[in-house]
Amino acid sequence: MLEYEQALARVLAAVPAATVERISLADADGRILAQEIASPIDLPPFDNSAMDGYAVLASDVILAKLESPLSLRLVGRVAAGESFSGGVAPGTCIRLFTGSPLPAGADAVVMQEDTKIHAAEPNQVLILDAVKPWENVRFHGEDVKRGAMVCANGEALTAGRLALLAATGCAEVVVSRQPVVGIVATGSELRESGQSLAPGQIYESNRTSIARLVRKAGAIPRIYPLVPDVLEATRLALSSAFKQCDIVVTSGGVSVGEMDFVKQALAELGGDLQFWKIAIKPGRPFVFGRLPAADQVRTPGHKLFFGLPGNPVSALVTFLLLVRPAILSWQGAIDLALPCHAAVLAESLENEGYRRHFMRVRISPEGKVHSSGFQASHILSSLAAANGFVDVPPRSTLLAGTTVNVLRWD
Ligand code: AMP
Ligand code: MG
Repeated sequence: MLEYEQALARVLAAVPAATVERISLADADGRILAQEIASPIDLPPFDNSAMDGYAVLASDVILAKLESPLSLRLVGRVAAGESFSGGVAPGTCIRLFTGSPLPAGADAVVMQEDTKIHAAEPNQVLILDAVKPWENVRFHGEDVKRGAMVCANGEALTAGRLALLAATGCAEVVVSRQPVVGIVATGSELRESGQSLAPGQIYESNRTSIARLVRKAGAIPRIYPLVPDVLEATRLALSSAFKQCDIVVTSGGVSVGEMDFVKQALAELGGDLQFWKIAIKPGRPFVFGRLPAADQVRTPGHKLFFGLPGNPVSALVTFLLLVRPAILSWQGAIDLALPCHAAVLAESLENEGYRRHFMRVRISPEGKVHSSGFQASHILSSLAAANGFVDVPPRSTLLAGTTVNVLRWD
């Protein structure tokens, strides 16, 4: 049986190189950049005011105080978005707003709150406080210098990066294509929600949750109809999913039972099985395979196949640990790991088994970690209550008070 890290390394080694497309920045939400981007301009592009107030010469107002205000002659007004040909000479000031370009000659901005307009002479502004040279001035290029790298290849376009790129005037970006991920559930006991259940039947619950996680990994999910435990039906389902998708994910049918047909169906389609079974709980039966792509233009190399175990918790955990990083890597992403942070156990977590156990936990806003409930791999209530996992080593107990790494998802 493979250790998790070995399994992950083998999956990632099999992921084909990303293919790219050029899209509008407005459509690039969350996408993975496939280029480095340098700023063509300084940010800010010009010296400007950080406040609503008055452009002055700092040396003019050194002695200004509330008790002994200093008077300057108002010679102009520059709104944000305007430009101004005049400048500030000794004894004068110019009305400015946040973002207004700093007029020539000025070397500071007195904020409006430290000024008063002369009641009798509206062209005289009383300055009630001194300013240091360059106070309340935002300098051109202090944020980003022209030519500086602002985003790296493989970075996800988060809200902050989208803002930065937009501010540099970037209109289009080269990003990796999003894989289409087919989601197939196998099991003769499964029914669609909304149907009535006959004895022995259950509602199918893996495709919706996996589809959400596929979407969150930046890919496009495509859900297929339920597949009974019949070899021919399984092969047909896989075959049509492989025709339409870059990656195919199934659930169920990968154990040792005589009704488990997924591995055989993959082999009959010409797929090669890379490994089966990993030493983690939940999720020991897990199939990873590849299928040569018929259309080498759209999908160079091969398509990826992941056969998840059917138990809903096992399916979700193995998806997050092994399929999510593959989907991200397919898009050329640099950051493949689940978000994770240190927190303190509020109760002990015990793993009596011989495989490491990714246990469902709930981390409170104060950073305390509790088990989210019963840990068997068919228990959905503790899955719904969880917002993280803790990797508990085989045959060990992590005591209350221990600092652990919590893997976060959703
Ligand atoms: P399997 O991996 O096919 O042996 O299934 C393991 C367990 O998970 C069985 O109890 C199945 O009924 C259940 N199961 C399999 N697939 C699903 C599914 N898509 N939704 C809900 N339960 C499932
Ligand atoms: Mg089954």
